[in-house]
Amino acid sequence: MEQLKVTNLLKLYTLLLLYEGPKHGYELMKYMEDKIGLKASPGHIYPFLKKLVEIGLIELEEIAERDKKTYKLSESGRKWVERMIDRIGDLIDIAVEPKLTVCANCGCKVYEGGYREEIEGQTLAFCCEHCAHSYKMELEGGPHSH
Ligand SMILES: [Zn+2]
Repeated sequence: MEQLKVTNLLKLYTLLLLYEGPKHGYELMKYMEDKIGLKASPGHIYPFLKKLVEIGLIELEEIAERDKKTYKLSESGRKWVERMIDRIGDLIDIAVEPKLTVCANCGCKVYEGGYREEIEGQTLAFCCEHCAHSYKMELEGGPHSH
């Protein structure tokens, strides 16, 4: 289980670092260690890179000089990472959401402050007074101005 987690983290960072720009294998390992403190051994990173090449998420650019290989995301690789980022974003939203107040009228997130009003025995949160007003108008079936 522990092994799987590390592998996933490694995969995640590998893809995110490649999304940032093409990199050599050793650059990926150095970035991970310097920036994230994750020790990635060649035995972990190269098989994963190889697999990514095989499934077409990354492309290999061979530079004849010094036999260095640069890994870069392919078109489908970029899309894959973008979808992954979206999913992670959703997870973070879920984790952060309970701390946020959402305006009962427009649905925008109220990080701090905001406006509260008791409407029909319920204290509702709004981003501003105007939203509270629109909400009440809507409740009464009137035109809303937002
Ligand atoms: Zn609002």
